[in-house]
Amino acid sequence: MAFSEEFLEELSRRNDIVDVVSAYVPLTKRSGSNQFGLCPFHGEKTPSFSVNTDKQIYHCFGCGKGGGVINFIMEIENLSFPDAVRFLARRAGMAVPEDDHDPDRGKRARMLELNREAARYFHAQLMAPTGAPAQEYVRRRGIVSMVKPFGLGYAPEGWQNLTDAMTAKGYTRQELIDAGLARVGRNGGLYDYFRGRLMFPVIDVRGSVIGFSGRILSDGEPKYLNSPDTLVYSKSRSLFALNLAKKSKSGYILLAEGNIDVVSLHQAGFDSAVASLGTSLTPDQARLMSRYTTEVIIAYDADAAGQKAAQRAIGILQPLDMKIKVLKIPGAKDPDEFIQQNGPTAFRELIERSGNQIEYRLEQTAAQFDLGTDEGRVGYLKAAGKLIASLPGSVEREIYGIRAAEKAGVSKDAFLGEVARVRRQNAAAARKQRDREATAPLRAAQPQSRELRFENVRSAMAEEGVLNLLCRFPEQFGSLPLAGADFTSPALGGLYEAVMARVRQGRSVSMAALSQQFSPEELTLLAGILQHDEISAAAAQQAMGDYIDKIRAERDKAARADDLRGYAEKLKQTKGYGS
Ligand SMILES: [Zn+2]
Repeated sequence: MAFSEEFLEELSRRNDIVDVVSAYVPLTKRSGSNQFGLCPFHGEKTPSFSVNTDKQIYHCFGCGKGGGVINFIMEIENLSFPDAVRFLARRAGMAVPEDDHDPDRGKRARMLELNREAARYFHAQLMAPTGAPAQEYVRRRGIVSMVKPFGLGYAPEGWQNLTDAMTAKGYTRQELIDAGLARVGRNGGLYDYFRGRLMFPVIDVRGSVIGFSGRILSDGEPKYLNSPDTLVYSKSRSLFALNLAKKSKSGYILLAEGNIDVVSLHQAGFDSAVASLGTSLTPDQARLMSRYTTEVIIAYDADAAGQKAAQRAIGILQPLDMKIKVLKIPGAKDPDEFIQQNGPTAFRELIERSGNQIEYRLEQTAAQFDLGTDEGRVGYLKAAGKLIASLPGSVEREIYGIRAAEKAGVSKDAFLGEVARVRRQNAAAARKQRDREATAPLRAAQPQSRELRFENVRSAMAEEGVLNLLCRFPEQFGSLPLAGADFTSPALGGLYEAVMARVRQGRSVSMAALSQQFSPEELTLLAGILQHDEISAAAAQQAMGDYIDKIRAERDKAARADDLRGYAEKLKQTKGYGS
């Protein structure tokens, strides 16, 4: 095991879960030892995310996410288990005992070092006389003063400039290949991956250089070349310039299309611009943004491709409950060109005036129909009704509803009636979904056969009860006449076996101690189970006995049902019943 349990317990003692969570989620309501806030993992309007001081766990009653303090950091900071441990250790000012069990750890550190060296090399090349082509480009784009803050560089023409410079510093061939900085040529030699390009280091929010993006200086293709995904770099989880944008005081993030747009925007004073790197916006990137802002303004190119990408981005951002606006850039192909022509002040006005995503989408919807025909109006009414029905506020629905009705030339009442109908439909679907989610662990615990469904929900509830008591009062249950195989739910049975083994060995069953042994999914399940504390220590023995009786009774009932079914089958076969 990578970390000792003593260390993990100490780590969680020094990182009280309420303190840690509060830095991300304002906890506004209190009920007993639970504090509540708005869940950071799913969009919601009323707090269903709870943090429990006594048990040092969190659990969301809405989306079901849960676990201990380490899980919380893994989830919200997008970190692996060891990295989350290191993160919390740093937070508490603790030294991390060296763990040799993470084989990638040394490799990762070395790769980050290599990336930093490469960034330095590229930067020096840009400043050197050989960097003339890149300097000329930077001047032409008017971003000279951004060279330093972005750490811009130049990868010269030629095949082995970086490779030679880095091998001279002691990096191996394999390290250069693994970092995505060099490739193996046909003759078996290495060649530089980036050549003749303006280099943008991709720096994560912790300040590490994790990858590169190179823009071609001539007319060749591809325009941007990005580092492949490596041990330290995942394109779909990184945003260019978020390291700078996260410090912005603007209150929003400007989502631009390319790196050069981002740099130009920063140059013009818009210090919250970021871009996704060679991919269209991903849900991970959207979540990353939502940690730093509550408002995203999409500033993509004005062409059809840019507008299509904007639509897609809206779909990805919307579930995160952020304010989304889409910038319309009149008379220019992109933000950079608009600023060059009209100046930063005009662009700022554009941002302030920019329609929110509903107006934008209503316009896009209207453009799809011929409103001069009855058919077109009906189509528009249905599509716009769906859109407006998705708005959470009744005032907003009224305002946009009236606007949409006017546009289609139908009465306001007819339109709002349609909206109300869609909302009723949505509410019914959401209720169904909630019911499904609420019973998910119980349904997962059930065997396939329909006849047994109800009985086994009872068994699963008793199984959860056993786990609850065992974790909360381990000192009372050194041994139990129950095996994991007696459980109807394999997941619960597995958890039971593992927890029981620890109890027998006198080892801790705190969330911190378990966090290393169990997967995040298992810990989520466990946190949900531990959320209950209706049964006191004094009543635990009695309750445990009842749970075990229940599990056995359900098992016997199931066995009898099996026997009966077997008997019925036999009858059918021997007497030729059925079809
Ligand atoms: Zn949630």
